Amino acid sequence: MTDRATFFDTKIEFLKGVGPQRAATLNKELNIFTFGDLIQYYPFRYEDRTKFHTIAELSDLLPGAQVRGRIRDWSIMGEGSKRRLVASFTDHTGTMDLVWFHGISYYEKSLRAGGEYIAYGKPLYFGSTYSITHPELEMPSPDTEQDGAFQPVYNLTEKMRRTHFESKAIAKLMRQLLDIAKPHIHETLPESLLHKFRLLPKAEAMEHIHLPYNQAWLNQALRRLKFEELFFNQLRLIKNKLIHKTEYPGQIFRDTTILNQFYKDHLPFDLTNAQKKVIKEIYADLISGKHMNRLLQGDVGSGKTIVAFITMLMAINNGAQACIMAPTEILADQHYEGLKVFVDAMGLHIGILTGSTNTKRRRVIHEELQNGKMNIIVGTHALLEDVVQFKNLGLCIIDEQHRFGVAQRAKMWAKNTEIPPHILVMTATPIPRTLAMTLYGNLDLSVIDELPAGRKPIKTVHRYDTHRSEVFGFMRQQIELGRQVYVVYPLIEESEKLDFKDLMDGYESISRAFEKPKYQISILHGKMLAYEKDDEMMRFQRGETQIMVATTVIEVGVNVPNASVMVVESAERFGLAQLHQLRGRVGRGADQSYCILMTGYKLSKETRTRIETMVKTNNGFEIADVDLQLRGPGDLSGTQQSGIADLQLADLAKDGAILTAARESAQAVLDEDPHLILPQHAPILTQIESQRQGETNWSRIS
Ligand code: ADP
Ligand code: MG
Repeated sequence: MTDRATFFDTKIEFLKGVGPQRAATLNKELNIFTFGDLIQYYPFRYEDRTKFHTIAELSDLLPGAQVRGRIRDWSIMGEGSKRRLVASFTDHTGTMDLVWFHGISYYEKSLRAGGEYIAYGKPLYFGSTYSITHPELEMPSPDTEQDGAFQPVYNLTEKMRRTHFESKAIAKLMRQLLDIAKPHIHETLPESLLHKFRLLPKAEAMEHIHLPYNQAWLNQALRRLKFEELFFNQLRLIKNKLIHKTEYPGQIFRDTTILNQFYKDHLPFDLTNAQKKVIKEIYADLISGKHMNRLLQGDVGSGKTIVAFITMLMAINNGAQACIMAPTEILADQHYEGLKVFVDAMGLHIGILTGSTNTKRRRVIHEELQNGKMNIIVGTHALLEDVVQFKNLGLCIIDEQHRFGVAQRAKMWAKNTEIPPHILVMTATPIPRTLAMTLYGNLDLSVIDELPAGRKPIKTVHRYDTHRSEVFGFMRQQIELGRQVYVVYPLIEESEKLDFKDLMDGYESISRAFEKPKYQISILHGKMLAYEKDDEMMRFQRGETQIMVATTVIEVGVNVPNASVMVVESAERFGLAQLHQLRGRVGRGADQSYCILMTGYKLSKETRTRIETMVKTNNGFEIADVDLQLRGPGDLSGTQQSGIADLQLADLAKDGAILTAARESAQAVLDEDPHLILPQHAPILTQIESQRQGETNWSRIS
């Protein structure tokens, strides 16, 4: 252990071939200080150098080509930033150019006219010949031919390239280092896992990620190292969850009298099986005596609100208070209105606290929360304020949780100093399972994977802007049938002014096409005051207006079952997750609903995929998967929160299978041996310890 620490802590200047100057460059340019840093500096791609191209075979489509030929002569061309050295390079099939903008004097001195070279780089067709700019150049030798098979390419900075510190040089250092490092690379995974998943031993994997014999070896090395990375990531998350469970007690809410009464007298529909399953999972948490920390995931319209309410009844029934926090006032209002009907019928007390609650009302609420008169409080961020104190907060529900951060969740915790309130976070952002495992691996997960019966799938179509009058015709038809329509415009901060104009222009043209008094139109956007927004929303909700022209403020949670048409303007400007959220605003009643995605004619390939996906499927998880493929995990909402940042090799969009295996293995190991004391788990413990050390080292450097 100590041996390992000292070897990999060795300063990089002690590696053969690294003098003070190179060491300084490695420190400064690549943040590489030690042997350990270097060996973990993985290639970002590889080049297959087993193949040579002739000049006649070159094509713009080749990502890179290796050509063997002779340099005939060269000349300097151009002025200023265009100044370059152009060498004419020939083989038996033709002539091409090799071009350098940097290091001209170096190449002038070192190139040999008539000399034989191997040039490697991306060929481009310019004027009438192919050329490669800044090729890698070497003279053929028996040596290059033999180890040149499958070459790693390391990321370099521009400055390194200018001083001819090339990827090849790093590869050479790596070879040196691997030769001496191999005995010091200890296995980090137990034998049983290596065996079960047929993983390469660590030392071999490290060698082959840098210098693979061929693609097959590289694949094996990558699979092994990705598994390791994900295994330790999951181990940490699951361990945190265990610690959480053993360290934090939770209030016990066993009595269900009120709940049973609600079921019997007030529940307006039959719960879906998925809702029942989730309620059972939550109830099991609430009688466990342990603190609940659960994520409830359910597609838009799957009926999370009623599950939230039932959970609150469990708390209230046992003398505790409950709160539900929503990201917008509109949403908080809606929850309040929706819940109030039930709460009143059951003789309980509910209140709402948002930014626009007036001081007088606020004071009453604060008091009623403190003396316990109020059973349920609905609100926005206003709930987080320190003045909001409870007699006994037993449950905190956070709706659309991706809009809130971890810090805010922690603040709610502190509202009960004796026993932290149980936490249920709800999200309609469908997160692919793989992502949920890394993001929320430390939460328990419940999924509502079924929509209430009788819902007709929403029909989604794509229409070009030029067909707007037909779309208006369709809207008219639906309104005749008594339905309501949303028309949504993008409002994205960077071009807010322009967007706002689009919205207003749209509003005007809709007002012209749908004249008063037959048609009434609502408008809703971020520049309106909170009460104006509420008024408009209410008018639409009550059916006094038929069309709601809005920005994405209606994206989350709004529930108007009679609205059956969602028209999205400039749909090309929305991401998939957002489009899916918007579409979820319709299809909430029994009527056939429609989503119309309007775009211009010019669409990028990616946009087309997005639109086609929306047209093809209503399934939020399928959509989330496509989104993950298109954008990568870093961009998905909420990902700033945890877990993902420290994945160096694994790609959550592609490595789902490895992740699942890693998670199951981590779970199995901890089930068997929660404290990792069994001898066969010693490598795991050692690795965790050295990772911890690594973290401190790293923070010292930066
Ligand atoms: P979300 O999961 O998006 O928050 P909501 O809780 O707003 O969904 O529910 C969407 C609509 O479905 C609401 O009008 C709600 O009353 C209704 N609903 C919920 N559960 C059921 C059910 N089991 N049967 C019928 N309708 C339901
Ligand atoms: Mg909701």
